[in-house]
Amino acid sequence: MNPPELSIVIPVYNEEENIPILVSELKGTLASLGKSYEILFIDDGSRDNSLERLVEARRENPAIRIISFAENAGQTAAMDAGFRSARGEIIITLDADLQNSPRDIPLLLAKMPEYDIVCGWRAERNDPWIRKISSKIANTVRNALSHETIHDTGCSLKAYKRACFEKIKLYHGMHRFLPTLFKMEGFRAVEVKVGHHPRKYGLSKYNIRNRLFRSFMDLLAVRWMKKRQIRYQIRKDVSDL
Ligand code: UDP
Ligand code: MG
Repeated sequence: MNPPELSIVIPVYNEEENIPILVSELKGTLASLGKSYEILFIDDGSRDNSLERLVEARRENPAIRIISFAENAGQTAAMDAGFRSARGEIIITLDADLQNSPRDIPLLLAKMPEYDIVCGWRAERNDPWIRKISSKIANTVRNALSHETIHDTGCSLKAYKRACFEKIKLYHGMHRFLPTLFKMEGFRAVEVKVGHHPRKYGLSKYNIRNRLFRSFMDLLAVRWMKKRQIRYQIRKDVSDL
């Protein structure tokens, strides 16, 4: 079987109410694109009925694939499993909680020919005020310390050419730094403004404590990697002469 053109990679941790709605929204948007696709859900050890909802969705739509973790391993781990298993030339990520809208996928794809990574930018955030402020501070500090210009690297709605993933190895927390890591490898990134919706069902898996402190430590690691990146130009390789 030929690989699909698009792989949609979606990490899922306790999102049972969101899955049927997300699947139906995805189906509508993807059908209108006229491209072949697979939807890869990674159930990150959910303790609710997310896996059952996914299996039901797959019965209706064979383009759905499911990877189910034995236990919760974290969002970056779930995304890593998705990236490794994805078969499409273009890989699109989004959250399972309907905060990102599948309707924005065509906006990302429109930029894809010229760029390797297209990042969604939640210009109007629909989160509690404390989250909006902490995210603003985090983005400002992150950009200052890692010499980055991307406004909203925490937005999960992104599209990547699959070649990006041949270059890097992911560590916990690194899903927040993917554009920076890929730019270090010479890939071209651009941002497009996308919608953002309040979470209607289920709970956010992050809070100030587990997000701000950990992602600050991750930022120091990325800053170190950027500073210590090995760069050289080979003038001549004598073995070729
Ligand atoms: N998620 C996951 N494993 C985790 C935490 C989160 O797969 O350990 C998924 C979650 O189900 C959602 C996405 O990652 O699809 C983003 O999580 P969340 O919506 O809680 O983050 P927020 O939008 O609050 O930053
Ligand atoms: Mg969310």
